[in-house]
Amino acid sequence: MRVALLQEVSNVRVTVLAPCRLTDLRTGVLVKEWQSLKWQLVEASPQGLKVGPVQTGLQAVLLQTGSNDILRINARPYRGSLIFLRTPNGRLTIVNRLGLEEYLVGALSSEVGTDWPLETLKAHAVVSRTMVAHRIWIQRERPFDVTDDTSTHVYHGVVAESAETLAAVRQTEGQVLAYAGELISAAFHASCGGHTEDASELWKTKTDVPPLQGRPDPYCRDLRHYRWQTGMSLKAFAELLGAVGKEIGMPTACEVSDRNRSGRVRTVRLQGDRGVKELSGRDFRQLLGANRLKSLNFTVTFSRGISFSGFGWGHGVGLCQWGAYGMAKQGHTADEILQFYFPGAERRKLQGLPGFP
Ligand SMILES: [Zn+2]
Repeated sequence: MRVALLQEVSNVRVTVLAPCRLTDLRTGVLVKEWQSLKWQLVEASPQGLKVGPVQTGLQAVLLQTGSNDILRINARPYRGSLIFLRTPNGRLTIVNRLGLEEYLVGALSSEVGTDWPLETLKAHAVVSRTMVAHRIWIQRERPFDVTDDTSTHVYHGVVAESAETLAAVRQTEGQVLAYAGELISAAFHASCGGHTEDASELWKTKTDVPPLQGRPDPYCRDLRHYRWQTGMSLKAFAELLGAVGKEIGMPTACEVSDRNRSGRVRTVRLQGDRGVKELSGRDFRQLLGANRLKSLNFTVTFSRGISFSGFGWGHGVGLCQWGAYGMAKQGHTADEILQFYFPGAERRKLQGLPGFP
């Protein structure tokens, strides 16, 4: 799989303390071999990619080393190999190519505590593997499958690996969630706040896939991120709206005008002394900041200031991390956790599913 580590940068430093070889990514033709590379500059010049003193004249190159050796980008260690791409803007994008299982060991520990129950970690490993495999399946034409940030998993390479995540990945090796013979678009979030969300509320997917439908969740109740509150002055709120071209003057009212099946906010109606605006819940959350308005399951109180009181953290689709923690603490297995959050999903090997011959 391919993880974009840096995009559209001017240059990076690469270090490999082992024999390594540089090839043309497209043809596989050897460009140069080294016994080791120390803090060499990689940059995108008008003539093509330049790696250390070597002007390759190429737009895409692959740097490989032995299977257990480490490659460093700006001192941060990674497994696998590195792809350097010269972008249409004449900049540099760096992609880490490695096995899905190796990736998961590092990616998983950024998402959950390594002191969490093993059954939770195992369930999460299956969900994460499914999510990434689904991306690989639907995005084959892109130069990479995922980025290294929260849009899938925060991924910091070797430094993030742990014995606990290694055990969870090994004990579920190759296992994914499928329905009707296809990978499902699995997802996860910190806490659903009492009810998970239909996947179709977030992205285009069939609405009649049982494992992707939201349901009441008693397991995250009163655990971390279950409840939250936030607020601001009316002046600060007006300024925030003005900054994105939604001026309503001094706010006089703010109310939820529509909620979906799971209770999450679909639309917010804002009234001020100079106009009225309607915003979708998602736009409203983005406007206030996804880490301030932690979920769309909230109520508004409007008086001298504006305050919000809500449940859960994140979009609410798929696995509720704190609910999965709660389930394992009550003695449930990884299988039971997966069946609860993805009812009717089949746990099977990735190999053999469409896109993974
Ligand atoms: Zn939950």
